[in-house]
Amino acid sequence: MGARLAYRRRNPYNTRSNKVRIVKTPGGKLQYQHTKKKGSPPKCGDCGTKLPGIPALRPREYAKISKPKKTVQRAYGGSRCSNCVKDRVVRAFLIEEQKIVKKVLKENLAKKR
Ligand SMILES: [Zn+2]
Repeated sequence: MGARLAYRRRNPYNTRSNKVRIVKTPGGKLQYQHTKKKGSPPKCGDCGTKLPGIPALRPREYAKISKPKKTVQRAYGGSRCSNCVKDRVVRAFLIEEQKIVKKVLKENLAKKR
């Protein structure tokens, strides 16, 4: 049988924000300890995977940590994952190349006439 313990705050309901764990005090008593909500990790804006290297914190806790802990040193670091950035770079490169090819073809056509 689990011990019957009383909440230590005014909220009497078993809600998401009123979670507790049982701890044993130095005096040997069992007591509820209120736990904080778990943060959700930041995710890539394109594919939705969790961004590695960035901690999962509650919103207010992000204000307390320094900028380098919330980002990675890369274009789109801390917003998009490395694979999606690679895709973006390749896509942009190919589009630019295609433009050049089109331009060259157009010039060749103009020369022939
Ligand atoms: Zn991604």
